[in-house]
Amino acid sequence: MKRCVVILLLFSCLSAYAQGPISILSTYAEDYAATQLREWLDKGGCLTFWGRKDPGHTIHVGLTTSERRKFKPMVDSLRDDGYFIYGEKGDVWLYGKGEKGTLYAVYAFLEMLGYRLYTPSSMVVPDMSYLKLPQCRIVSNPSFAYREVSYYYPNHSQLYADWHHLHTVADRNAQWGLFVHTFGRLLPPSRYYDEHPEWFSLNNGHRSRDGQLCLSNPEVLEVLCQRLADTMAGAPRKKIWSVSPNDNYNACQCDNCRRLDSLYGGQSGTLLWFVNQVARRFPDKTISTLAYQYTRKAPTGDIRPESNVNIMLCPIEVGREKPISTSDFSKDMEDWSRLTDNIFLWDYVVQFRNFWNPFPNLHVLQPNLQYFRDNGVRMMFEQASGADNKSSWMDIRCYMIAKLLWDVDADMDSIMADFYQGNYGDAGRYVKEIVDTMTVALIQSGQRLDIYGYPIDAVDSYLSVERFHQYDSLLRLAYQHAPEHYIGCFRDIDSAMYYFGLALEFARNELAVSRDLCGYFNLDSLPSDSVSLQRVIERLESFLFFNDVPQMMEMGISPSECVKNWISNIERRFGKNKARNKPVDLRHSATAPYNTAGITDGQCGTYDYRYHWLGFWGDTLDAVIDFGEPTSYSTISISFYYYPLSWIFWPEQVIFYELDETGRWRVVTTFHIDNPEVLATPDIYTCQMDRVACIDPLHPVRQIRVKAIPPKEIPAWHRAAGEKPWIFTDEIIVK
Ligand SMILES: [Zn+2]
Repeated sequence: MKRCVVILLLFSCLSAYAQGPISILSTYAEDYAATQLREWLDKGGCLTFWGRKDPGHTIHVGLTTSERRKFKPMVDSLRDDGYFIYGEKGDVWLYGKGEKGTLYAVYAFLEMLGYRLYTPSSMVVPDMSYLKLPQCRIVSNPSFAYREVSYYYPNHSQLYADWHHLHTVADRNAQWGLFVHTFGRLLPPSRYYDEHPEWFSLNNGHRSRDGQLCLSNPEVLEVLCQRLADTMAGAPRKKIWSVSPNDNYNACQCDNCRRLDSLYGGQSGTLLWFVNQVARRFPDKTISTLAYQYTRKAPTGDIRPESNVNIMLCPIEVGREKPISTSDFSKDMEDWSRLTDNIFLWDYVVQFRNFWNPFPNLHVLQPNLQYFRDNGVRMMFEQASGADNKSSWMDIRCYMIAKLLWDVDADMDSIMADFYQGNYGDAGRYVKEIVDTMTVALIQSGQRLDIYGYPIDAVDSYLSVERFHQYDSLLRLAYQHAPEHYIGCFRDIDSAMYYFGLALEFARNELAVSRDLCGYFNLDSLPSDSVSLQRVIERLESFLFFNDVPQMMEMGISPSECVKNWISNIERRFGKNKARNKPVDLRHSATAPYNTAGITDGQCGTYDYRYHWLGFWGDTLDAVIDFGEPTSYSTISISFYYYPLSWIFWPEQVIFYELDETGRWRVVTTFHIDNPEVLATPDIYTCQMDRVACIDPLHPVRQIRVKAIPPKEIPAWHRAAGEKPWIFTDEIIVK
């Protein structure tokens, strides 16, 4: 498929036939579009009238039957929600296909006149008191029939969605009966597992409650189709129904499923074999399934999707530092493209573990969308920070994606030059310079840009201390050049700069806490005294002024939890600790690769479990800390990480001991910890023993010992039930 958008400018838009009062004529169906047009023209000071036919001064919104005949070639060339803008002898006709095409024509016409909507609160309304209606012929069809970007703006401002011709969650819900990862909903294990474990996937010798379905079992097809038919009956207007695996890797390993896997080139073949059978039973509906993770590879052999099967293809594994066409995803994209033209491409455009980390992927957005278009993709879903969350560079990225989803070949250099100046005023050139500098630094480093990464991954590329000093200077210049006279009735540069600055502040705090505190805070030395420590804490707390952000990452974590974690980390690192740098004797070895961290080294674990945590797989932490001399103390604490998605649980029991005069270990306190049943939200638990409760709280001891005993096995509710759990621990603090 080639270029989808045709723009023909036959005459210069500047040539004018009309000036002065403009009359607006609209068809009944286009009443809303015409009202919008009039409101915006009025805002610009244009004198408008309803319905008075005044040749040479009329804008026609929608087409009458006779006009439809007159413009037949243009009407026939429209696809999806495509539209045309036709100006002749001072009259203009705005018309579009489908429910919203004419409304889109209105907003596109307003953009032609110089109007802009950069964000829901940042817009340009030009002076329309001398409006000259243009002579033009523009036909515009979208690059993608379905265009959704899961960002806050289109889902909280219908104007923003319509202006940029985007679909929203509400539009999707109107079309889709079931959306993605639906096996668990179609055949709930809570209802069927006990009686029919054989319907569920065989993994490591047992049938999984929290896995997938056994697709080769004919009863599974029958019961699933019956349940699907019942669900469809309750929502007869919904067209698309997802029959797709749950979000895990546990495909069935039984002999029959494996036979199908080998017949059709892998697990995607078995899935398609199953979904095709479902689709044949519902010829009036579209049945959507997933080409995701273990089913991403296209099947081989004598199989292809039925005409009413939709393939939801997801490049979740791919790095975002370079165009996707250069990655190993390209083979799967091209293989699927040969099998079907009914592809829903689910792409990922933000950093999901850290929504507020600056994420320099803007340079790949256009080539990626062009690549998808060239491979026949008609439906695009750009997963960002979701309908209710905000994230770094949202103003910029959402605007870019919106423009590209309509026209992947748009001239983004000029569109974005206009955006930076429009949205940030004279600060825009410095904002753009920061974005460009980060992008160049990333590309030069040759490092991967991961959607599940952390700021610390970029510490040697675009988030190095030196780069940060550069960004700080540019940001200072940006604030200096965002003067108040820009903060007028229509633009909100304050808010735009605030969100832009927030991303840098988040990355700075993360890096300062987990790495080199001095450099990222421009401090001369580590906070050696309580005054400078307090100053650092105040700086971290100031992040809380950014208080209208609900979630810092996909899995949860509010800004206040984030700040609490930073501060507790800094306090543990720089506050008093009698165990700091004291030798630790581990009586059971930690498990590779999480066996290198120290637990008295002053480096404290954060929400990123790859750094500073010491891991034990199915084994007990048993650590003896030697103070070197009899030492009195009042509290001991130790922390544990929780993240069951990666099999990391809190220990069941934590026991603190002291070595008494006879050389025996005496139990001081035992903690019992309950693990919650939360799969994907990380958490940190700190056990603190208060010695006041002891028999002899002032008596000095030379050695203490901490034991943390993991749960025996991963609990029954988890998809890896019965396996050995990990425990992750860090930093023993003795005061
Ligand atoms: Zn099976």
